[in-house]
Amino acid sequence: MSFTCPGCGAVSHHPDDVTNRYCGRCHQFWNRIGPGVEAATPSGELHVDIDACLIGNGYEPNDQTRAALERCWLDVAERGVLPAIVIDR
Ligand SMILES: [Zn+2]
Repeated sequence: MSFTCPGCGAVSHHPDDVTNRYCGRCHQFWNRIGPGVEAATPSGELHVDIDACLIGNGYEPNDQTRAALERCWLDVAERGVLPAIVIDR
């Protein structure tokens, strides 16, 4: 088991980090919202891994599906309902 930080990409194999979804480099906890979607705790900033989100929802990642999903997230970001969204391509 390991935990990869959605913010900086650091990988931890420490059982406590994996259980708590904690990054020792960012000093940041993460809350998994859905496949490929993680919220920084407590700021609430969302990090979206487009490919992981597509695969987790049963879509094949290609130029078309990536562009469509990115547009969805950018729409959400523009509506300002969430503190901030970072899209990882
Ligand atoms: Zn990190």
